[in-house]
Amino acid sequence: MFKKEVVIFWILFSFQLSFGQGIGYKDKYARGLYDKALKGLNDLKCSESLSYSQQLLEYALKKNKYDMAAASYNIIGLNFEEFGDLKKSIQYYNSGVTYAKLAKNDTIANYLYNNIGNLYYFRLKDSKKGLYYYQKSYELSKRLDTDRDIAFAEINLADVYLELNELSKGKYYLQLVEKKMKNNDYEMGMSYYSLMAYYYEMRNDFLNAEKNYLKCVSDFKYQNIEYHKSHQMDIYAMVYRFYKKYNKTEKALYYLEKHDQLQDELFSKERNIEIKMAGGDIEALEYKYKVQQIETEKKIQQQKMKAANRFNKVVLWFLGFVIIFLIFIFKGFVNYRTLSKKLSDYNFQLQVAREKSEEATRLKTQFLSNVSHELRTPLYGVIGMAEILESEHKEIKDSPYFNALKFSSHYLLTLINDVLNVYKIEDNDIEFNYENINIREEIGHIKESMNVIAKSNKNEIIVSIADDVPRFIKTDLTRFSQILINLVSNALKFTKKGKVTLSLFLEIRDNNAFLKLEVVDTGIGIPEEYLDKIFEKFVQVDVNLQEQYKGTGLGLSIVKRLVELFGGRITVESKIREGSKFTVWFPYLKADEILLSEPQKSNSNTKLKNLNILVVEDNKINQMVTQKLLEKNGHNFQMAENGLEALLLLEDNNYYDVILMDINMPVMNGIEASIKIRNLGIKTPIIALTASDKENILKEILEKKNGLTDVLVKPFEYADLENVISRYI
Ligand code: ADP
Repeated sequence: MFKKEVVIFWILFSFQLSFGQGIGYKDKYARGLYDKALKGLNDLKCSESLSYSQQLLEYALKKNKYDMAAASYNIIGLNFEEFGDLKKSIQYYNSGVTYAKLAKNDTIANYLYNNIGNLYYFRLKDSKKGLYYYQKSYELSKRLDTDRDIAFAEINLADVYLELNELSKGKYYLQLVEKKMKNNDYEMGMSYYSLMAYYYEMRNDFLNAEKNYLKCVSDFKYQNIEYHKSHQMDIYAMVYRFYKKYNKTEKALYYLEKHDQLQDELFSKERNIEIKMAGGDIEALEYKYKVQQIETEKKIQQQKMKAANRFNKVVLWFLGFVIIFLIFIFKGFVNYRTLSKKLSDYNFQLQVAREKSEEATRLKTQFLSNVSHELRTPLYGVIGMAEILESEHKEIKDSPYFNALKFSSHYLLTLINDVLNVYKIEDNDIEFNYENINIREEIGHIKESMNVIAKSNKNEIIVSIADDVPRFIKTDLTRFSQILINLVSNALKFTKKGKVTLSLFLEIRDNNAFLKLEVVDTGIGIPEEYLDKIFEKFVQVDVNLQEQYKGTGLGLSIVKRLVELFGGRITVESKIREGSKFTVWFPYLKADEILLSEPQKSNSNTKLKNLNILVVEDNKINQMVTQKLLEKNGHNFQMAENGLEALLLLEDNNYYDVILMDINMPVMNGIEASIKIRNLGIKTPIIALTASDKENILKEILEKKNGLTDVLVKPFEYADLENVISRYI
């Protein structure tokens, strides 16, 4: 590990030296930017370095100087390596390679290959890939015929071969280096002697190993250059470890102390830089955006350039990076701006951890979805049986046990739905479906559905919609209703013998139009200290618990998240024993111009009678529940145990008005059966009855054209079933 840090630094150094000489570039402005970018990197001031390198890139692309662009990409890549964002770093190096090739500049291509090699070898611990790129770099450096570059390429090859335990190959390259060594090349000497020492150490040749280690450390004290220090520190560690291995305790401790001193010195510096840099995160973001802009502009100007393709990818990666970066900042999970190599490593680990946590979140949602499905299926049985009991034994309505059973099963259902909802919203697993709606009509429906709860607490619901609210607006009706129903049902729940007023206005704020919704009640109110907490998950006001208000504590957190997804805002004001007022601002969206008539809605007042229905369901209890439900409402039905049975029945004779199809069934599931039914040319509406999440199935219906006409989520009430059926008959 210690040894592995050894060679990284030389490439910056050598690159700096060679840039001007190697390509003979005379442009003072570019040279200035380049030097500053490089200095920023050497001083671990990545924000500064990125700023200069992006300016250089911009200038280079404007002037069509591809070699300069390649050099900029090299520094950008190195900076990203500092951040620990290795994927992007490789992308930038590769962009650099493309430009270096366009410019036919082997020098820069050589450095880029070298840096890619370093990245694979040191960071990703992939010696084989490292070797591949080092070899590419070696080939190029030989073509260039500059001794120093060739020597460093050989040092890298020697290093990898030693690491791969191919000692003779390692030695071979070290001998080649030796021939090119110059006495005053401290950087090369340090790398050469430390590798020689390591070679002898691996061969258990104590004397030669010691000789080389001592040669390596002997003139450290004369070299007080900042970017050598980390290298020196690592070599001290190597020497310490070497002596320790041979039980030379005193010497080992001596070098350990040297190592620690240097580490303290470096560490405190790094800390300072880190603190200074902490405020620079946003700046860095801007630089990154700028790089992105430059790339985009260039793409338009330089259509002919084949490398545009690669550019595109870089821009996308970039955008992805910025988004991840923002999430990092706002969630406060990771201060990814690490300024030392050690911290970069931590960052890399954090990135892996983040990916793991995303995977875990995905699995959690999947798990919740599966569990909720498993729970909803038996619940359909419980709730349905309770309904059958109630309709067949009217007297049971008076039984407190029966009522408790009904209450608990409904409560459980709400809880399952709410939990699922909350996690789906948190995972952004919700898609909005905007449509034109007749707002007065929809609010009228909501009011009607709330009347039962209103009556039980002897409340009055008053709806007031301002005249300037247009007849049609554009919104996601399901989510809009969900917000409204939640707020109104809360108001009704926490108010007795009072009033709940629902008002809607159009409000202009800072030149933006909002639809403002107010739900005001005259109920028990919310204590002040709870006002900012009730939007959090599972928070309920204590005092309420003594009463019969059994909620899940999730409603308002769902409401808040939905409102935010709409791009809106919600506030609450309340006074104990006087009442509460919830206000929501939705960004107002005008309905489509072409809207002349109202959308077709089902007419739930027309009673459907005497339909022939094929029910495909494997669960015996659910069969009973559905059967009773249909019988009670005067329909004829036929049961099929699974998809195959349904298919056989339909092949024989299709006189059904509608097919109710369970999805998860043995032998042949509902989706497969529906596809086969359609293949037979049968057009009868097929309504999926499923306990799993409706949106997933709906999505499948839309995407896969699986023959299903619509979906009803179990448990459902008869009115829902009738509503869906009437839509298609
Ligand atoms: P719940 O399912 O418990 O109603 P919510 O998230 O909808 O969950 O509400 C959280 C808590 O906020 C409620 O338990 C209640 O204590 C309080 N609350 C919400 N709305 C009102 C209201 N209109 N009046 C009084 N208290 C309310």
